[in-house]
Amino acid sequence: MPLRDDRSEKTYESLCKEFEGSVKLTDISNWKPLTKAELLQVHSESFVNDLLDEERSVARIIECYELFDSEGRPNRYDSDEASKPLSQMTKDILLQGRGTAFSIELALKERMVFFLGGGMHHAMEDFGRGFCLVNDIVIGIRNLQSTNKIKNAWVIDIDAHKGDGTASLTTSDASISTLSIHMEKGWPLDVGSGEGPWRLPSTIDIPIGYKEEDQYLEKLEMGLKKLESESKDLPEMVVVVAGADPFEKDALPSTNKLNLTKDQMLERDLLVYNFLKERNIPQCWLMAGGYGPDSWTIYDQFIKTLMREA
Ligand SMILES: [Zn+2]
Repeated sequence: MPLRDDRSEKTYESLCKEFEGSVKLTDISNWKPLTKAELLQVHSESFVNDLLDEERSVARIIECYELFDSEGRPNRYDSDEASKPLSQMTKDILLQGRGTAFSIELALKERMVFFLGGGMHHAMEDFGRGFCLVNDIVIGIRNLQSTNKIKNAWVIDIDAHKGDGTASLTTSDASISTLSIHMEKGWPLDVGSGEGPWRLPSTIDIPIGYKEEDQYLEKLEMGLKKLESESKDLPEMVVVVAGADPFEKDALPSTNKLNLTKDQMLERDLLVYNFLKERNIPQCWLMAGGYGPDSWTIYDQFIKTLMREA
C-alpha cells in the first residue's frame, strides 16, 4: 500500500544488478523541501499555510491518505507501529516534490529522465486527495516557466486513474496541455463524490472501458497524435505520469477495471517514449501509482529496455 512503498528501492537494486558501475545515486544531502513560494504557484494560501504548520499538516495528511474510515476507526495507519510521526510525512512528501522539480529541470539538459518517485496527480488547489498531497507535476513545470526556461508543457498521464488534480489546476492555463488515459469507471472512487474540481476535463481524456484492454494502445497513439495536431507549438517539456497501476497484477482493488499485461505495459511506455523522442521533446517520467509486490517490475522493464539500447 502507498504507506509502505518500496518500488523505488526494488527498481534501483535491480538496475544496479544489471548495470553495475554505471548506476549512481544523486547526492540529495543539500535538497530542501518545496518552498512556500513554489507551493503557492499551484496551491491556495490556506492549504499551503496548513501544510507548513506542524499540527495542521497532520489533519491534511489524514484527509489525503484517508487514515480514518467513515466511523473514525484507523485505516491503513497504526500509530503504535508507526516509525515516525505523521507530521514528518509532510516534510518527506515536500522533499519528494523537490525530487520531481529537480528531475523536470534535469530533463531539459538530459532529454530523458526517469525519477523513481513523484507524480501526485490527484492533488487539488485546496486539498490533497487520493494519496497525493501536493501536485509536484504542475509545481515542477511552473518552476521552469517562472524562470523563463520553458514556455509550454504537456502532461501525459498514463496512470490507471484520471489525472484530475492536474486537469483542474491547468484548466485555465493554455500553456499546459494534459492528456489522461484511464479506467472509464473507478475514479473518483466514491460515486457520491458529486460535482467538484475532479470533474473538470483534461485537454484530452481517453477513458478505457471494462475489458477494452485490446484498444488501449491504439487509443493512446491516436490521443498523442490528436494532442499534437491541436497544439499550436510542440511543448518544450513533457512530464509523463507513468503509473504502473493499469498492470493486471496491481494489488489496489479499485484498479481491477483495467488490466494490461506486462508486455502491453512495456508497449505503452515505449509508445509514449518514442513518440516524444522522435519529436526531440525533453521528457521527465514520474512513478505515480502502483501497488503490491509486482508493480516495480513495470518500471524496471522499461528503464532496462532504454538502458540496454543506450
Ligand atoms: Zn493510479
